[in-house]
Amino acid sequence: MRGNRSPSQRGPLRTRAKRIVGPLDAWYEATGRSLPWRRVPTPYYVVVSECMLQQTQVDRVVPIFEAFVARFPSFEALAAAPAGAVVRAWHGLGYNGRAVRLHALARTVCSRYRGVPPEDAQALRELPGVGRYTAGAIRAFAYGIPDIALDTNVKRVLERVFYGSLQDGKASRALETAGGALLEYAPPFSLNSALMDLGATLCTARRPKCVLCPLSFTCAAAGTSTSHERTRFSQTAVSERVPFRETSRYLRGRIVDVLRALPPGTSTTLASVHKALARCLPSKTRSDVAAAATALVRDGIIVRRRSRLSLAD
Ligand code: SF4
Repeated sequence: MRGNRSPSQRGPLRTRAKRIVGPLDAWYEATGRSLPWRRVPTPYYVVVSECMLQQTQVDRVVPIFEAFVARFPSFEALAAAPAGAVVRAWHGLGYNGRAVRLHALARTVCSRYRGVPPEDAQALRELPGVGRYTAGAIRAFAYGIPDIALDTNVKRVLERVFYGSLQDGKASRALETAGGALLEYAPPFSLNSALMDLGATLCTARRPKCVLCPLSFTCAAAGTSTSHERTRFSQTAVSERVPFRETSRYLRGRIVDVLRALPPGTSTTLASVHKALARCLPSKTRSDVAAAATALVRDGIIVRRRSRLSLAD
């Protein structure tokens, strides 16, 4: 491990970017993860995978992704399906609101763009559920356009390598600048994939493995991870002190599970849902379940008709 370097030792940004891409690419060639959406990076596969990967680990996503695209092989097939069928196929991923947003996105892509997402960044960001990150991922992975997909892992790697540590207010522009410098020397697909893999496997939030890292020769933060920094990069872990089973998200997920188990096209009462949850969530009152169901209706994940609940049509 080595100590922090001064800016003059690190050199100008573009010079460092040029020196970084070779070792990074060689590392990715040797260790990069072979993932179904990387093997077939169509716009549809990229969109589905990016939606699933928000807040869910890669290993859990892979088998569900494969079953999902076998069932809905295109934007057209997804758009033609009832929202409830998409929520059923989402089983095992959690955060069911993502399924509803993906479904809405597919319908917009079909109605507005004949089943092919636009390449323009601003037009992409006007699609349901697509922000700066997802637009960058679609452009880089599906279309090979020089763009950087700034997810949590990529941000952490770029910040550590180029700057060591950034003040919050300055981070966004600085990371875009660093990403842009790298894109001058590396193809967008492999560059983004490599940065994501590095952040997921070596440059992790809590314990970066600098001795194994291909960028330690130039990284501004190599060997300097402090407890303060680890805390900063691990906000999720710190904030999740409430047991997951006590959260409203857990309750909403179990309600969706109950409705998912119904035969398609059927519904049930709130009382039946409450009864079905009594064994796994005995502390939840009927009012708790009613409030969570209302939130699910509001998010478009389930519907309530004449006091009966079902997955959305
Ligand atoms: S693992 Fe260490 S050397 Fe590699 S990018 Fe992260 S902080 Fe830098």
